Amino acid sequence: MTRRELARMAALSAAAGGLRAASGDVSVDCAFPGGNIMVDSIEGATVSLRQDLRDTAGDWFYWHFRVRGAAGRTLAVRFTRSAVIGARGPAVSLDRGLSWQWSETADAARQSFTYAVPSGSQEARFCMTIPYLESNLRAFLKRYRRSRFLRTGVLCRTAKGRSVELLEAGAVGDETRPVILLTARHHACESIAGFTLEGLLGAVLDAGEPGGRLRRNFRFLAVPFVDKDGVEDGDQGKNRRPRDHNRDYSGASVHASPAAIRKLVGSWPAGRLRFALDLHCPWLRGAGNEEIHFVGGPAKESWARIERLAAVLESIQTGPLPFRARNNLPFGKSWNTAANTSQGKSFSGWAAELPGIWAAGSLEIPYANAGGAVVTADAARALGSDLACSLGEVLES
Ligand SMILES: [Zn+2]
Repeated sequence: MTRRELARMAALSAAAGGLRAASGDVSVDCAFPGGNIMVDSIEGATVSLRQDLRDTAGDWFYWHFRVRGAAGRTLAVRFTRSAVIGARGPAVSLDRGLSWQWSETADAARQSFTYAVPSGSQEARFCMTIPYLESNLRAFLKRYRRSRFLRTGVLCRTAKGRSVELLEAGAVGDETRPVILLTARHHACESIAGFTLEGLLGAVLDAGEPGGRLRRNFRFLAVPFVDKDGVEDGDQGKNRRPRDHNRDYSGASVHASPAAIRKLVGSWPAGRLRFALDLHCPWLRGAGNEEIHFVGGPAKESWARIERLAAVLESIQTGPLPFRARNNLPFGKSWNTAANTSQGKSFSGWAAELPGIWAAGSLEIPYANAGGAVVTADAARALGSDLACSLGEVLES
């Protein structure tokens, strides 16, 4: 069989739903946690592929794949479904997903890119953003495994039998302390939120201030992966059918995690939940999506308090990603209207109405470019640390 026939066969098998396609020595696959790709064809080092939408209603842009056998060659990659490359090109990892760099390469249409794979790299991973998976969380928890201010538990099991982590930090086990509830990955693909959550929890757990005060005064509960199956399986998560995880807070919950969160919080006396914050990433790129911003709900008092928190964050921030409160998106503006909640209540919309809560909101953290600054894992963590300081300031006063 000729090389060309082999390539055609590989392309056919990929089109038939296979995850792996190979031509000569170049292969593309997504058979690892968080992986997502469908290969259309491979001709030499030229690859055509597209994001796997699975049960997404409409289009979305998450993809994450591995290329092997391309050492020393220049890959030409083209996405055949839609323009899914973000503001800084693909994120690239040459160490099996441990560290990531923005390649800053893409065509103007944001649908193709080239990448020269270093001669020593047997494997390169490409993703639309910097992934954050269970393995990242494990590495974070390992750093604090001796801390008496951290406890790792299980919120619930998913439909596929995975554990959804429930972390407790600060005044661990102290039922008299007010709770700050932090959630991320209601939308599976929104991985930058994971680094910001790490930064926030790290500030609570680290020696010195504000950690000392925060640990004394608050019990932090965090669900880093609300849609755990989606994160590990590499789903889009956003606009999932039959229901988006972040529309699952009214009526009977379809998914296990929102049901478990509602049950847990519902078992507390009114007012124990002081503050709830849901971490997200916005759309892929472009105006409004390259600025960090809080998103408001219809509850007016809650939004006024979120704006206070935002003002403090803007004034005290030390991290490299600029936050400007004027970029916040109050309820009623842009996409953030009643029409957007018709599919069901969001986590923060639900939480903001709980009796005795101080405020609830969501924060959007861009995928690649925030106020002109480069989004990296550390930069997103620094935002979390600044958030912790701000929370301390507004909630303790
Ligand atoms: Zn989201």
